[in-house]
Order: sequence, then structure tokens, then C-alpha cells
Amino acid sequence: MERRCFLKIAAISSAGAGLLTQTHEVVAKGISFQAFPGKTQGQCYAPPANPVILTSLTDLFKIGPGPSSSHTIAPLRISSNFREAIAALPPETLNKAQSIEAHLFGSLSATGKGHRTDRAILAGLLGQKPETCDTELMDALADTRKQYVTTIQGKTFTVGNDTIVWDKIDHPYPFANTLVMRLVSVDGTTLFEREYYSPGGGFFQWKGQPAPDRGQPVYPYGNMADFRRLARDRNRSLSEIILDNEKAVMKTGEAEIFTHLDLVLKTMEDGVTQGLSEEGLLPGPFPFYRKAKRVYESARNAPAGDGFMTQLSSYALAVSEGNAAGRLAVTAPTLGSAGTMPALVYLMKNQLKLSQDALRHGLLAAGLVGFLCKNNASVAGAEVGCQGEIGVASAMAAAMLTHATGAPLEATEIAATMALEHHLGMSCDPVGGFVLIPCIERNAFGAIKAYNAHLLAKNEIAAQHWEDLDRVILAMLETGKALPTPFKEMGTGGLGVTMVDC
Ligand code: SF4
Repeated sequence: MERRCFLKIAAISSAGAGLLTQTHEVVAKGISFQAFPGKTQGQCYAPPANPVILTSLTDLFKIGPGPSSSHTIAPLRISSNFREAIAALPPETLNKAQSIEAHLFGSLSATGKGHRTDRAILAGLLGQKPETCDTELMDALADTRKQYVTTIQGKTFTVGNDTIVWDKIDHPYPFANTLVMRLVSVDGTTLFEREYYSPGGGFFQWKGQPAPDRGQPVYPYGNMADFRRLARDRNRSLSEIILDNEKAVMKTGEAEIFTHLDLVLKTMEDGVTQGLSEEGLLPGPFPFYRKAKRVYESARNAPAGDGFMTQLSSYALAVSEGNAAGRLAVTAPTLGSAGTMPALVYLMKNQLKLSQDALRHGLLAAGLVGFLCKNNASVAGAEVGCQGEIGVASAMAAAMLTHATGAPLEATEIAATMALEHHLGMSCDPVGGFVLIPCIERNAFGAIKAYNAHLLAKNEIAAQHWEDLDRVILAMLETGKALPTPFKEMGTGGLGVTMVDC
């Protein structure tokens, strides 16, 4: 379906719904302090100024090996970047080099073994890239007795278990997940060093990094209120704003954007298909069995409502189990939450029979929600708990389905708002630091909540709806700041404690 055709159908299919008659401002309203006896004006919430969003769809939807975007994809990207940086050093520096060290801090050190962080770092140093990563090599790297030789600009290095330093969990660096990479000489002198951070979702940055070469968005916005205003004042749809901005910021064309989105959709769909065909144990320190296939097959004999929920859950379980096994998955917004959106994508394609074009446009709406959450709060369990991973994934999925089925911007926002709101406060407490308990099942619940948010939003009257996306994202940030550290991907709080017997 052509883009213009999709937009037209979207408008027609929404005609007559109460939501379409509302203005874009209706969704954005707080409750006056006067409604609450004892509240004073000084207790009103003052939202922060949000900088213009420059995050791209390729930044948000990254493809790579599981099980974790912050602990697997980002470390792989970091060590790959460090390899490139070393290759650009003057030959006289490189000639003095003897070894490479990777120092892991914070949650990377606390839970990196369960997340294959060490293997990801070695894979990047050996020249692997996330999107094309050889997942069999990742499996082989589990053998810590083996050493690997790699050549960078004619200089040979041996990397292996000794390359990885499981450093301090409490540290002074500005980001929870910090990775310091060093090139070291024979006498132990550091010849070159980069202090990298993994802020979630597979993103990475380093201290002193120059600003990326990006264009300015056609429609600058920093929050949903800005976005809503732009849509109204400039008479642009959600899809038009996201697409035009992506083209301008990334200096690319629509064909390239859709090529990436198609690969994202294919990876998600393949993840469901493969996961539904596999059985047996998942890798990890305790016996944890796959169940997606069994759950999927049980849906055949279930009554209609049960069957639908069982099937949708099985799709999410399938991708999450594959992610835990180290298969390729998409950060949506992270790998811990990689099963939620694919469950809805699979449903939209195979049961709702939506076109490829509608699916692409759904991803644009999911992208908008992901951008807002990433820029105005966080998508890292290590920073704001699981509300930032499964909560955001559920909100993205709800927006995707609602937009792709032709609902107006207000309904899309309300769907995302509801899905995120009802994950607020969710801690990140992976047992033993492995993306197994509670992560795999949480994706199924995230998918179910996304669908429910879609249903409720379609039937909501915008003028009667109080919560808006910006306020709920800020609530997630505030809640995340208040969450104690053991509940932020440390594996030392909640289930991470109660599930471990002496
Ligand atoms: S508990 Fe949630 S945030 Fe934590 S690792 Fe699992 S999916 Fe990610």
C-alpha cells in the first residue's frame, strides 16, 4: 500500500469515532491542584525542558545477538568500535602494544556473565558486527580455556578470558554500565584508552565523543506535546513527521528507511517462527525449559478468548526464548524486552492480515514512543528498572497496533500511555543476572497489556482521559530514580534474592 493511500485509509477508518473529533490538545492536560484539598500551588509538577530529539529509527531498532541490548549488543558494538580506533592509531603506537583489556563496571560486572558480555566483547575484538554476528562463534566463546588470535593493522593480538576484567560494581563513572577498554604495552603502560558507557537499548557512547554528524529535523520536537502541536499546526500525520525527520536527521531516503524497517519486521517474524519450532533447555546455570511451542499448540483446543491470549503469549515467549539462547533479535527497545513487539507484529501480519505498508507505519509509531521514552527517561533496566524495558516495549507495541490499524494520533498516544502507565514501578530483578526469570514471561504479559491498551484506547473518549504520554514518561523517570539499586538489573533484589536458596 502506498504511503498516501495508508494515510487516507487511516483517516477514513477513524471517521465517526469520538476520538477523531477531539483536538490534539485534549490529551494533554494535568489535574488542577485545586481539585485536591490541602495541595498548594507550590506542589504542582513542573516538567523539564526536553531537548530536540535526534534519535533515529536505526538507532532504536538495532539487530544483534541476545540476550541483552545493554550487556550484549552494546559491548559488542563497543569492542568493535575499539578495534576500529586501534586500527587508526599511528604504527609506532600499535607496535608497542602487547594486549587489550576490557574493564567492566557496575551491572556489566555484576551480571555480565549471565548476559554473555564477555563473549560479546571478544566477538567485537575478533571483528564481528552485531547485525551479522556469527551466533555459533558466540556459543563457542563460552569455553574460557580457549584463546583467539586476531590481527589489527598487521599487529597480532591474543584475546580470551584474560582480556576481560570483572571490575568494581560500585564505581564513580557517570553511567551505571561502564566499560573501559585499554590498549596496553609490554611494560603495562596504557597506550590508548576509551571510557565507554552503555545507557540501554544497545546504544553506546564514550567520554569526549564528538557530536555525530546529523542533520536537523524538519519537525523539531522534544516531547509528545510538541509532536501533537506540530501535527495539528502543520497538518501532518504521525508517519509523515517521523519519516521526514528521519530523512533529514540521517540524510537518507525513504527507500533506505523502509529497507531497514523491513529487515526489522523480518527479524521479528523469523524470531517467532523459529522459537515456535524449538524445544528443550535454554543455556544457563539452572535447568530452564522452553515452553513457547507447547503453549502455542495448546491454543488450538482452547476456547476463542483463551486461544487468542495463549497464541499471543506464545509468540512473545518464542522470541524471548530465542533471545535467551543468543539468537538474533531486535532491540525494541531492548533485547530483554525483544519478544513483546514481535508478538504483535506476528499477530498483525498473520491474523489481522495487515499489509507490509501498514506494518511499516506501525513501526513508525512505535519509534515515536521509543524516542520519547529514551530521550525523556530511559530504556535501561539498569537505570529505571523493568518499566523502562517491558513497560516501554508494551507502550511501543500498543502504539504500533493502534496506528497501523488506522486510529488517529490521540488514540495512538492513549494506547501507549495506558500500556506504559500500567507497568510503572516494575523492578528489574533477573535471577542470577540471566534473562530467563522473570524476563521471558514478562514479554508475554507486555504483549497482552499492549493489546488490551489498544482495545481500551480505541474506546476511550479523549476529552475524558487525563493521563498523557509525557506525564507518564516523567512518572517512569521519577519512579526509576526512587527505585533502590538492587532493583535495577543487579540481580540482588526481588526475585533475584527470593529465588536463590542456600
Ligand atoms: S527484568 Fe526486565 S529489565 Fe530486567 S533484564 Fe529482565 S526484561 Fe530486562
